[in-house]
Amino acid sequence: MRTLAIDIGGTKVALGIVESGTLVKRHQLETPESTDVIQFTQSILKDIKDWISDIDNIGVSTTGFVTKDGITAINPDTLNFPTPFPLAQELEIQTNKPVKMLNDAQAAAWYEYTQLSDTSLNMAFITVSTGVGGGIIINGTLHQGHSGLAGHIGHMSIDINGIACGCGQIGCVESIASGTAIKRFSDYLYDTPITNLELFARAPNDPIAESIIVKSAQAIATLCCNLKAGLDLDLIVLGGGIGFAQGYLNRVNKAIQSRPRVFQIPVIAAKGNYDACLLGAAFQFKE
Ligand SMILES: [Zn+2]
Repeated sequence: MRTLAIDIGGTKVALGIVESGTLVKRHQLETPESTDVIQFTQSILKDIKDWISDIDNIGVSTTGFVTKDGITAINPDTLNFPTPFPLAQELEIQTNKPVKMLNDAQAAAWYEYTQLSDTSLNMAFITVSTGVGGGIIINGTLHQGHSGLAGHIGHMSIDINGIACGCGQIGCVESIASGTAIKRFSDYLYDTPITNLELFARAPNDPIAESIIVKSAQAIATLCCNLKAGLDLDLIVLGGGIGFAQGYLNRVNKAIQSRPRVFQIPVIAAKGNYDACLLGAAFQFKE
């Protein structure tokens, strides 16, 4: 089976051919500005027209909620679609291939689940990057919920006296742990702004840098323990630019080990690396 995988992000669209579980071709373009679904679809297919005749189906992963009617953007600054945006339906019309579509973090969660040696485990995938997202697999099934919201665990509030999150709530995990939040704390504490990459490099010799990163890791640890308490999960898989950063996973695990044993849960690194969403888009066809 050859699947065209498409990952729709706020700034870029990644496309790939996945064959026998492996990404064999890859292409990337800037997210088209058009908010017309016909033009948007034409734009993302324009460079890979010659791939279409060779594929069996199309898997899409995208930021935002996904329902059977299309994509609903959570943050209009990221994806400025009229909603629901019926991308899957339009792809079917323009390619005449079957199309499945999922939220990107849910897609990555599904990919990570397929990589486990023990598929009886209930797990969550957490990505810590610009934002904090995730996906939950229970009893071998991706839990999406009726509105598609399941897995938006970055918007679980963990501090009722915390700062305002972009979603309208107070003290969300995302507002404390995300790359955006880390940068905001670091800009506040350092006179000269530094990148998050520099912050991680400084951490071993700089208590301020270390404290900013630990705060993020503790928020993620709290999220992991909350997921354990709420869903009795067996495993958390961690990814994303911050999640993969040097020493971050260790800091999360260390914070979890200071909690009561009943809420502790193992956290491991994601296997899909930066293509987990793209692979997850294709793995929707792998039951
Ligand atoms: Zn929020």
